[in-house]
Amino acid sequence: MNEKGVSEEELFAQLSSFSNADTNFKKVFSSMCTIPHPVAVAAQQQFSLSNIGDPGLFQGTSQMEAEVIRMSASLLGHPDSSSAFGHLTSGGTESNIEAVLHMKNRFLNSFSNAENAIENAVENTVENTVENTVENTVENKSNNDQLNQFKPNLILPKTAHFSFEKIANLLDIELKKADIDSKFRAVPESMESLIDENTIGLIGIAGNTEFGGCDPVESLSKIAIKHNLPLHIDAAFGGFVYPFLPESDSSAKSSSMKGNNIKAGNKKIKFAFDLPGVTSVSIDPHKMGLSVIPGGILIFRNESVLYPSLDKIKVKTPYLTIKYQSTLTGTRPGSSVAATYAVMKHLGAEGYRKNVAYCMDLTDYFQKELNKIGLKPYIEPEINIITLHVGDGKDKTADREKTEKIRAELLEKYGWNVSATKTVPALRFVLMPHVTKEDITAMLSDLKELLEI
Ligand SMILES: *Cc1c(COP(=O)(O)O)cnc(C)c1O
Repeated sequence: MNEKGVSEEELFAQLSSFSNADTNFKKVFSSMCTIPHPVAVAAQQQFSLSNIGDPGLFQGTSQMEAEVIRMSASLLGHPDSSSAFGHLTSGGTESNIEAVLHMKNRFLNSFSNAENAIENAVENTVENTVENTVENTVENKSNNDQLNQFKPNLILPKTAHFSFEKIANLLDIELKKADIDSKFRAVPESMESLIDENTIGLIGIAGNTEFGGCDPVESLSKIAIKHNLPLHIDAAFGGFVYPFLPESDSSAKSSSMKGNNIKAGNKKIKFAFDLPGVTSVSIDPHKMGLSVIPGGILIFRNESVLYPSLDKIKVKTPYLTIKYQSTLTGTRPGSSVAATYAVMKHLGAEGYRKNVAYCMDLTDYFQKELNKIGLKPYIEPEINIITLHVGDGKDKTADREKTEKIRAELLEKYGWNVSATKTVPALRFVLMPHVTKEDITAMLSDLKELLEI
């Protein structure tokens, strides 16, 4: 740090040059974030000093957070949104961490036998490590197996977001990955077959990151109830999309704003609290919610589904105006709460439906134009994500190389940011609100040139 500070003039000149090196979202097809709505930005500035980690000092922000939770629960089909329990997070990753942490605590509490067994296994391993030499590696191994035997596991589809890899490491749990169908959605039978006595819960995804598919949550909900397991739905991306998709069934009741409730538009796709087995849902206002970064929302059906885990993570907070804190993070940005409140209230269901309709129009247009030049998405897009096959499908390695080459050339030659998928070799386009029809026309012409079509 310099001894003397720089002048404001110099400072802002520096900031401008940093800002110019960042994207302004022009030519970006790879991001699930977008330009926030102006009311969200204004509210963020107005509440820049607010810390929702100490709600007694920021009672106004606290009221807004409660209202955001209630509006979101109602959007997610909660039968009694006032009993929903949740808070704002920094995004999908933090929401998933916290949901799985509660699953693990619940498991450890409910299965005291398993807990004792883990303790015994740990003790044995420690003892062995102290005493052991080369001779009893075999014994050691069997102790490790014993340890693994009691390792908590989480069942999720292969298409789950990479945040779960971090969670497995952080919380020391095993991930059991279920098969996916031809549309890249979880196969319920496969999910169920993976359940064993150490399973702590199930994960379903509404709007998976690579393909935008929605897992069959109705079936997962039944499985969760049958096996008495928590079911967390990761709707980080889909949470602000599925409820606002145009109604395909003309006989469906027209959706409306009732009081302060945002009513879901498309009742056909059930993925959240309208299914009784769903215990928690994560949605990200900083993606299709048009709010600012950081913006995530984690909601539990009610406080009692967290028993007895909530008590475990509740800590006494003698320096704050509240007695306890039970969120993963301490100081939290009240500015994000205000921004999310602002954009949800200002847009209402009607505004979000318009936003989704715009993105879906772009998606349909792009897909039709791609079909015209003989390029096919892997699946018919359900939401505003297109995963495009550019190889000939004969050899996966060759397809991967070709995909990577096209992706790199799109960036180097034309400045387009597009991502590639891991599950299959494909280019991935997210049709966010900052994308225009002109962008798509230009992209098509550049793709044609690169692919020599
Ligand atoms: C984006 C995303 C996440 C991670 O969210 P962050 O806000 O980046 O932490 C998790 N799950 C899904 C399905 C996502 O699309």
